[in-house]
Amino acid sequence: MRGWWREISGLVLPVSCGGCGKPRAELCEECRAALHGGVPRRVRPDPEPAGLPVVHAAAAYENAVRAVLLAHKERGELGLAGALGKALAGAVRAGTGQAGGAGPLLLVPVPSARRAVAARGHDPARRIALAAAGELRRGGVRAQVVAVLRQRRAVADQAGLGARERQVNLAGALEVVAGGERLLAAGRVVLVDDLLTTGASLAEAARAVRAARGHTSTATGYDATGYDGGQAAVVAVSPSAFEINRNCQ
Ligand SMILES: [Zn+2]
Repeated sequence: MRGWWREISGLVLPVSCGGCGKPRAELCEECRAALHGGVPRRVRPDPEPAGLPVVHAAAAYENAVRAVLLAHKERGELGLAGALGKALAGAVRAGTGQAGGAGPLLLVPVPSARRAVAARGHDPARRIALAAAGELRRGGVRAQVVAVLRQRRAVADQAGLGARERQVNLAGALEVVAGGERLLAAGRVVLVDDLLTTGASLAEAARAVRAARGHTSTATGYDATGYDGGQAAVVAVSPSAFEINRNCQ
Protein backbone atom coordinates (compact mmCIF):
# COMPACT_ATOMS: atom_id res chain seq x y z
CA MET A 1 0.00 0.00 0.00
CA ARG A 2 2.69 2.45 0.98
CA GLY A 3 4.80 1.65 -2.07
CA TRP A 4 1.75 1.96 -4.30
CA TRP A 5 0.92 5.36 -2.83
CA ARG A 6 4.49 6.55 -3.27
CA GLU A 7 4.55 5.61 -6.92
CA ILE A 8 1.29 7.36 -7.65
CA SER A 9 2.11 10.43 -5.55
CA GLY A 10 5.52 10.72 -7.24
CA LEU A 11 3.65 11.29 -10.49
CA VAL A 12 1.39 14.03 -9.26
CA LEU A 13 3.19 15.76 -6.38
CA PRO A 14 6.32 17.86 -6.75
CA VAL A 15 9.45 15.87 -5.93
CA SER A 16 12.28 17.18 -3.83
CA CYS A 17 15.92 16.20 -3.53
CA GLY A 18 16.48 13.28 -1.17
CA GLY A 19 19.73 14.88 -0.03
CA CYS A 20 18.84 18.52 0.63
CA GLY A 21 15.11 18.92 0.03
CA LYS A 22 15.54 21.27 -2.93
CA PRO A 23 12.45 21.02 -5.17
CA ARG A 24 12.07 19.60 -8.67
CA ALA A 25 14.65 16.85 -8.62
CA GLU A 26 14.79 13.52 -6.85
CA LEU A 27 18.52 14.13 -6.41
CA CYS A 28 20.04 17.52 -7.23
CA GLU A 29 23.42 18.02 -8.90
CA GLU A 30 25.22 18.95 -5.66
CA CYS A 31 23.94 15.95 -3.73
CA ARG A 32 24.69 13.64 -6.65
CA ALA A 33 28.24 14.98 -6.63
CA ALA A 34 28.52 14.33 -2.88
CA LEU A 35 27.51 10.73 -3.51
CA HIS A 36 29.61 10.06 -6.61
CA GLY A 37 32.36 12.67 -6.42
CA GLY A 38 34.66 11.03 -3.89
CA VAL A 39 37.32 8.44 -4.56
CA PRO A 40 36.19 5.08 -3.14
CA ARG A 41 38.75 3.78 -0.71
CA ARG A 42 39.62 1.06 1.74
CA VAL A 43 38.17 1.75 5.17
CA ARG A 44 38.65 0.24 8.60
CA PRO A 45 36.50 0.77 11.67
CA ASP A 46 38.42 1.25 14.91
CA PRO A 47 38.29 -1.14 16.68
CA GLU A 48 38.20 -3.57 13.79
CA PRO A 49 36.12 -6.69 14.52
CA ALA A 50 37.75 -10.08 14.00
CA GLY A 51 36.99 -11.60 10.64
CA LEU A 52 36.05 -8.31 8.98
CA PRO A 53 36.60 -8.55 5.21
CA VAL A 54 38.56 -5.94 3.31
CA VAL A 55 36.00 -3.11 2.99
CA HIS A 56 35.84 -0.31 0.44
CA ALA A 57 33.48 2.65 0.82
CA ALA A 58 32.32 5.27 -1.66
CA ALA A 59 31.64 8.20 0.67
CA ALA A 60 31.57 9.53 4.21
CA TYR A 61 28.27 9.15 6.07
CA GLU A 62 27.47 12.83 6.52
CA ASN A 63 25.39 15.68 5.09
CA ALA A 64 23.79 14.84 1.74
CA VAL A 65 25.08 11.26 1.65
CA ARG A 66 23.56 10.55 5.05
CA ALA A 67 20.29 12.23 4.06
CA VAL A 68 20.02 10.24 0.81
CA LEU A 69 20.73 6.93 2.55
CA LEU A 70 18.11 7.67 5.20
CA ALA A 71 15.53 8.84 2.64
CA HIS A 72 16.00 5.57 0.78
CA LYS A 73 16.08 3.33 3.84
CA GLU A 74 13.56 4.90 6.20
CA ARG A 75 11.28 6.96 3.98
CA GLY A 76 11.08 4.51 1.12
CA GLU A 77 12.33 6.90 -1.57
CA LEU A 78 13.12 3.97 -3.80
CA GLY A 79 14.04 6.08 -6.79
CA LEU A 80 17.30 6.91 -4.99
CA ALA A 81 18.45 3.30 -5.25
CA GLY A 82 19.98 3.91 -8.69
CA ALA A 83 22.27 6.69 -7.48
CA LEU A 84 23.16 4.74 -4.34
CA GLY A 85 23.86 1.66 -6.46
CA LYS A 86 26.19 3.65 -8.67
CA ALA A 87 28.14 4.75 -5.60
CA LEU A 88 28.24 1.16 -4.33
CA ALA A 89 29.44 -0.05 -7.72
CA GLY A 90 32.37 2.36 -7.43
CA ALA A 91 33.32 0.88 -4.07
CA VAL A 92 33.02 -2.65 -5.48
CA ARG A 93 35.30 -1.73 -8.39
CA ALA A 94 37.84 -0.15 -6.01
CA GLY A 95 37.98 -3.39 -4.04
CA THR A 96 38.05 -5.89 -6.87
CA GLY A 97 40.26 -4.02 -9.33
CA GLN A 98 41.00 -5.97 -12.47
CA ALA A 99 39.65 -9.23 -11.16
CA GLY A 100 39.90 -11.80 -13.89
CA GLY A 101 39.43 -15.49 -14.21
CA ALA A 102 37.43 -15.90 -11.03
CA GLY A 103 33.99 -15.86 -12.61
CA PRO A 104 31.41 -13.12 -12.14
CA LEU A 105 31.26 -10.82 -9.13
CA LEU A 106 28.62 -12.08 -6.75
CA LEU A 107 27.20 -9.23 -4.70
CA VAL A 108 25.85 -10.68 -1.47
CA PRO A 109 23.72 -8.15 0.44
CA VAL A 110 23.73 -8.14 4.23
CA PRO A 111 20.07 -8.70 5.11
CA SER A 112 18.14 -6.32 7.34
CA ALA A 113 16.35 -7.71 10.37
CA ARG A 114 13.02 -9.22 9.29
CA ARG A 115 11.15 -6.83 11.52
CA ALA A 116 12.89 -3.87 9.87
CA VAL A 117 12.06 -5.17 6.38
CA ALA A 118 8.42 -5.56 7.39
CA ALA A 119 8.30 -2.06 8.86
CA ARG A 120 10.06 -0.38 5.94
CA GLY A 121 8.40 -2.42 3.22
CA HIS A 122 11.74 -3.14 1.55
CA ASP A 123 15.28 -4.33 2.16
CA PRO A 124 17.52 -1.35 1.37
CA ALA A 125 20.86 -3.16 1.00
CA ARG A 126 19.36 -5.66 -1.41
CA ARG A 127 17.78 -2.95 -3.53
CA ILE A 128 21.03 -0.96 -3.70
CA ALA A 129 22.94 -4.17 -4.55
CA LEU A 130 20.63 -4.81 -7.51
CA ALA A 131 21.24 -1.28 -8.78
CA ALA A 132 25.00 -1.70 -8.29
CA ALA A 133 25.06 -4.97 -10.23
CA GLY A 134 23.25 -3.27 -13.11
CA GLU A 135 25.74 -0.41 -13.05
CA LEU A 136 28.69 -2.85 -13.08
CA ARG A 137 27.20 -4.80 -15.99
CA ARG A 138 26.71 -1.61 -17.97
CA GLY A 139 30.43 -1.00 -17.39
CA GLY A 140 31.28 -4.42 -18.82
CA VAL A 141 31.83 -6.22 -15.50
CA ARG A 142 30.01 -9.50 -15.02
CA ALA A 143 28.10 -9.05 -11.78
CA GLN A 144 24.96 -10.37 -10.18
CA VAL A 145 23.22 -10.26 -6.84
CA VAL A 146 23.17 -13.49 -4.87
CA ALA A 147 20.91 -12.82 -1.90
CA VAL A 148 21.65 -16.01 0.02
CA LEU A 149 22.11 -14.63 3.53
CA ARG A 150 19.23 -14.59 5.97
CA GLN A 151 18.74 -13.97 9.64
CA ARG A 152 18.42 -17.20 11.55
CA ARG A 153 17.22 -15.56 14.74
CA ALA A 154 15.88 -12.23 15.85
CA VAL A 155 18.44 -9.63 16.85
CA ALA A 156 18.05 -6.47 18.88
CA ASP A 157 18.11 -3.11 17.13
CA GLN A 158 21.77 -2.21 16.67
CA ALA A 159 21.18 1.49 17.26
CA GLY A 160 22.44 2.51 20.66
CA LEU A 161 24.71 -0.51 21.04
CA GLY A 162 28.49 -0.18 21.32
CA ALA A 163 30.94 -2.06 19.12
CA ARG A 164 31.33 -4.99 21.53
CA GLU A 165 27.59 -5.23 22.21
CA ARG A 166 26.85 -5.24 18.49
CA GLN A 167 29.20 -8.16 17.99
CA VAL A 168 27.53 -10.14 20.77
CA ASN A 169 24.09 -9.22 19.44
CA LEU A 170 24.96 -10.45 15.96
CA ALA A 171 27.14 -13.50 16.66
CA GLY A 172 25.68 -16.43 14.78
CA ALA A 173 22.72 -14.34 13.62
CA LEU A 174 23.15 -14.97 9.89
CA GLU A 175 23.24 -18.07 7.76
CA VAL A 176 23.40 -19.01 4.12
CA VAL A 177 20.10 -20.46 2.85
CA ALA A 178 20.02 -24.13 1.84
CA GLY A 179 21.74 -24.56 -1.51
CA GLY A 180 23.23 -21.07 -1.29
CA GLU A 181 26.80 -22.37 -1.06
CA ARG A 182 26.51 -23.69 -4.62
CA LEU A 183 25.56 -20.23 -5.84
CA LEU A 184 28.46 -18.71 -3.90
CA ALA A 185 30.92 -21.08 -5.59
CA ALA A 186 30.06 -19.66 -9.02
CA GLY A 187 32.13 -16.50 -8.72
CA ARG A 188 33.88 -14.00 -6.51
CA VAL A 189 31.92 -13.01 -3.43
CA VAL A 190 31.66 -9.34 -2.45
CA LEU A 191 29.53 -8.65 0.61
CA VAL A 192 27.62 -5.40 0.22
CA ASP A 193 25.73 -3.11 2.58
CA ASP A 194 24.54 0.46 2.59
CA LEU A 195 26.47 1.54 5.67
CA LEU A 196 29.46 0.42 7.71
CA THR A 197 29.33 1.45 11.36
CA THR A 198 31.25 -0.86 13.69
CA GLY A 199 31.72 -3.59 11.08
CA ALA A 200 29.87 -6.16 13.22
CA SER A 201 27.26 -6.92 10.52
CA LEU A 202 29.84 -7.42 7.77
CA ALA A 203 32.04 -9.57 10.02
CA GLU A 204 29.05 -11.76 10.86
CA ALA A 205 28.06 -11.96 7.18
CA ALA A 206 31.61 -13.00 6.27
CA ARG A 207 31.55 -15.65 8.99
CA ALA A 208 28.29 -17.07 7.65
CA VAL A 209 29.69 -17.24 4.10
CA ARG A 210 32.87 -18.93 5.31
CA ALA A 211 30.86 -21.40 7.36
CA ALA A 212 28.73 -22.27 4.33
CA ARG A 213 31.83 -22.85 2.27
CA GLY A 214 33.40 -25.03 4.92
CA HIS A 215 35.97 -22.58 6.20
CA THR A 216 36.34 -21.63 9.80
CA SER A 217 39.57 -19.66 9.63
CA THR A 218 39.68 -15.93 9.02
CA ALA A 219 42.79 -16.22 6.88
CA THR A 220 42.93 -14.07 3.79
CA GLY A 221 44.43 -15.05 0.48
CA TYR A 222 42.91 -17.35 -2.07
CA ASP A 223 42.33 -20.88 -0.94
CA ALA A 224 41.76 -23.99 -3.00
CA THR A 225 38.14 -23.11 -3.69
CA GLY A 226 38.98 -19.60 -4.82
CA TYR A 227 37.42 -17.91 -1.82
CA ASP A 228 39.71 -15.07 -0.86
CA GLY A 229 38.67 -14.66 2.76
CA GLY A 230 36.28 -11.88 2.13
CA GLN A 231 35.78 -8.65 0.34
CA ALA A 232 33.09 -6.11 1.05
CA ALA A 233 31.82 -2.79 -0.25
CA VAL A 234 29.52 -0.20 1.29
CA VAL A 235 28.07 3.09 0.13
CA ALA A 236 29.16 5.01 3.21
CA VAL A 237 31.20 4.83 6.39
CA SER A 238 31.65 7.18 9.37
CA PRO A 239 33.47 10.39 8.35
CA SER A 240 36.43 9.65 10.63
CA ALA A 241 36.98 6.19 9.13
CA PHE A 242 36.70 7.62 5.62
CA GLU A 243 39.25 10.37 6.22
CA ILE A 244 41.74 8.34 8.25
CA ASN A 245 42.03 5.87 5.39
CA ARG A 246 42.55 8.53 2.76
CA ASN A 247 45.97 7.23 1.79
CA CYS A 248 45.38 3.61 2.58
CA GLN A 249 44.86 1.46 -0.46
ZN1 LIG B 1 20.22 18.07 -3.08
